[in-house]
Amino acid sequence: MTPFLLYSDGEGQIFEDTSLYVVGRSGWDAMPIPAEDWIELPDGGNLYELPGRRGIGIDVKTGEMRLCEKGWAVAAFLPPAHTGFYLAAYETLDDAPTLPLFCYTAAGWFADKFFVPAMRIEQDIRQECSGYDERKIEEGVDLLTKAHPHNRLVKHLAEKCALTYNCPAARNYFMGRWECPIPTSPACNANCLGCISFQPEDESIVSPQDRLQFKPTAQEIVEFTVPHLETAPYPIVSFGQGCEGEPLLMWETIKESIIEIRKHTQKGSININTNGSKPDAVEQLMKAGLNSIRVSLNSARKDIYTKYYQPNNYQFEDIVESLRVVKKYGGWSSINYFVFPGMTDSIAEYDALCELIETTGLSMIQWRSFNIDPDWYLGKMGVGDTGEFMGMKQMLELIHEEFPHVKFGYFNPPMERMKNFDVDFAHW
Ligand code: SF4
Repeated sequence: MTPFLLYSDGEGQIFEDTSLYVVGRSGWDAMPIPAEDWIELPDGGNLYELPGRRGIGIDVKTGEMRLCEKGWAVAAFLPPAHTGFYLAAYETLDDAPTLPLFCYTAAGWFADKFFVPAMRIEQDIRQECSGYDERKIEEGVDLLTKAHPHNRLVKHLAEKCALTYNCPAARNYFMGRWECPIPTSPACNANCLGCISFQPEDESIVSPQDRLQFKPTAQEIVEFTVPHLETAPYPIVSFGQGCEGEPLLMWETIKESIIEIRKHTQKGSININTNGSKPDAVEQLMKAGLNSIRVSLNSARKDIYTKYYQPNNYQFEDIVESLRVVKKYGGWSSINYFVFPGMTDSIAEYDALCELIETTGLSMIQWRSFNIDPDWYLGKMGVGDTGEFMGMKQMLELIHEEFPHVKFGYFNPPMERMKNFDVDFAHW
């Protein structure tokens, strides 16, 4: 099977071009996609028209690669729990606008369905879009804001996160289940090119969320997280969210909160999503009772990491040390690994990732789609040639072969899953 290319009329209508088979992109290169790499666009996925961009395809008659002049290129946004193998392939016209911070996976049409080159990397169902119940979320918002009338964080999670940004984690909190978010930090010590909570005024893209404007107290944190840990199924409370800066800059408050939480309940898991910049602070949090960490990175190569994160007062080595500290204290360590076909599956990246896994004793890789305009990213990073690459599917297979104990997924596991990763999700 080879799907046909999709194009849009620039007014949101999408059509298939049956004179062209769709191709994919890795790095700067367009290429055919193996038949076995395609799956139906999963529920919760979206299609985007890409203004100022012409799709690249293979002529069904001549076999030549050429542009589709019928309209703008189209890409797919993969829903959570899925990892894309190829980017959408297109030629960008001079005056094309920078694309917003979403992922742009290849997409095609076959047998009256939309297809994408991707796989489901995570069986956990916590962010299935069909699992959200708007009425229950609103009832939860009403109930919990009344239960915590003076809590600025619960107010923020309700008004901003759940009801404005549609944050899946906040919506789960108000449905009384699974992972509950705890944003804490208005500031950050990195300057990621694709930051989702802050973008410089003069930048051509905007951040989809506003950064938290206050520093919560430990009391505010404890007040709503203890009841969640006590009552939710497979409960996790997670510091470090998309609507804040770097939580480790608030480590003293987080430490105080963890100690206080554990005075009230031993249930569930306490996790931190972080840039991993302060290993000493991570050690303090592990001593206080932190259970797991997730460190975000676009690359396991110091130079590629540094160009993207533009860190203030920390180095790549610090994030490696933070992962090692968690392992030393018997915690669960994950990386939030931004997948960019052509970069992530390059030979150089493969070697660097193997070294990172060996050095840190990593527990899990969360293979996340990189939400960024591919041309803009490679341009900003000054990457003219991404070097030799093996294909994302092969990268996943080789890492699994080399390190079978390293778990693959998309979400932070609850305590039950850290103990037995292959739990059956049917009864979640
Ligand atoms: S570490 Fe997070 S908050 Fe800080 S700049 Fe990067 S994406 Fe933004």
